[in-house]
Amino acid sequence: MPQISLVVPCFNESEVIGAFHAELVNALAPTEADFEICYVDDGSVDDTLVLLKGLAAEDSRTRFTSFSRNFGKESAMLAGLRMSQGDAVIILDADLQHPPQLIPQMMELHRHGYDQVVAQRDRTGEGAVRTVLSQVYYRLVRRFMDVEIIDGAGDFRLLSRRAVNALLSLPESNRFSKGLFSWIGFDTVSFTYQNVQRAAGQSKWGGRRLLNYGIDGLLSFNSRPLRMAIHGGLWLFLSALAYALWIVANVVVDGVETPGYATLITVIVGMSGVQIATLGIIGEYVGRIYHESKHRPHYVVRETDETELPLSVPMVLRGGATMRPMAPQGERR
Ligand code: UDP
Ligand code: MG
Repeated sequence: MPQISLVVPCFNESEVIGAFHAELVNALAPTEADFEICYVDDGSVDDTLVLLKGLAAEDSRTRFTSFSRNFGKESAMLAGLRMSQGDAVIILDADLQHPPQLIPQMMELHRHGYDQVVAQRDRTGEGAVRTVLSQVYYRLVRRFMDVEIIDGAGDFRLLSRRAVNALLSLPESNRFSKGLFSWIGFDTVSFTYQNVQRAAGQSKWGGRRLLNYGIDGLLSFNSRPLRMAIHGGLWLFLSALAYALWIVANVVVDGVETPGYATLITVIVGMSGVQIATLGIIGEYVGRIYHESKHRPHYVVRETDETELPLSVPMVLRGGATMRPMAPQGERR
């Protein structure tokens, strides 16, 4: 069994993958570790798969799995983790934004007994708007989420075998790995490195994709937004009650004639806004239940050089029973 597995999700990375592979192997040489590299092609439409096949053919320590279409980085990481066999696993991006030179340092920290070693990037060289938005987001997340998520702590991390097994045992199909990493716990240590720009090619995270990813993160880990809706509703109810009492008191004391429609419209519009927002939150959760209940696989494999398909995790049925293959027809009496 290799000492260390490198898991690399790749989506349209043909421009950098060669340089990345060379640099990775270079960085691993001084550690003298026995390693394997698990590339996952996330349905690239350029030459990434061809290049990966070439790399795998040259070196038996390199393997690959390719998806039938783009399933997203979360699914690619999951496939890579399932492929990995090492005592420790490091997940890193193919665009050299996660410098392979940091790997020896991460392995050293792992030897000191840490199950998760996080390389945390700072925000140098990033646009001002994106920096501010991310800071606001992380503040929000810290307030509303049950698990802790740290700004800059992304997917570049080392995981021990037991941490990987813990991750693989989580069955949800909506995977927000930043939250999952934090949820599994274990002793975690982090260090900061200076952010680097992508070596070549383009980032796949536009504004909209980031926004959706952010919403996923907020909703994946708790039902606090539902709780907030309940609190909001209660406060509204109480203030409406107070307002009603105030009108009644006014009528009793002064006998004023209350102008009706203005207040009515305000209240109706305000209340329907709150109701629609609450329905939206509930709808989002119901949608997620629907999505999870379909038990679809996280990805479909087009091609792999694995002997065993990385899909081979037993499906867990209700009540904790595990599904077993059916006995062949002939054996039945
Ligand atoms: N990636 C992937 N599937 C996707 C999008 C990205 O496997 O749908 C990979 C990509 O090839 C890269 C890593 O995830 O190795 C990070 O992507 P990117 O550099 O585009 O993100 P950024 O660094 O801009 O956040
Ligand atoms: Mg990148």
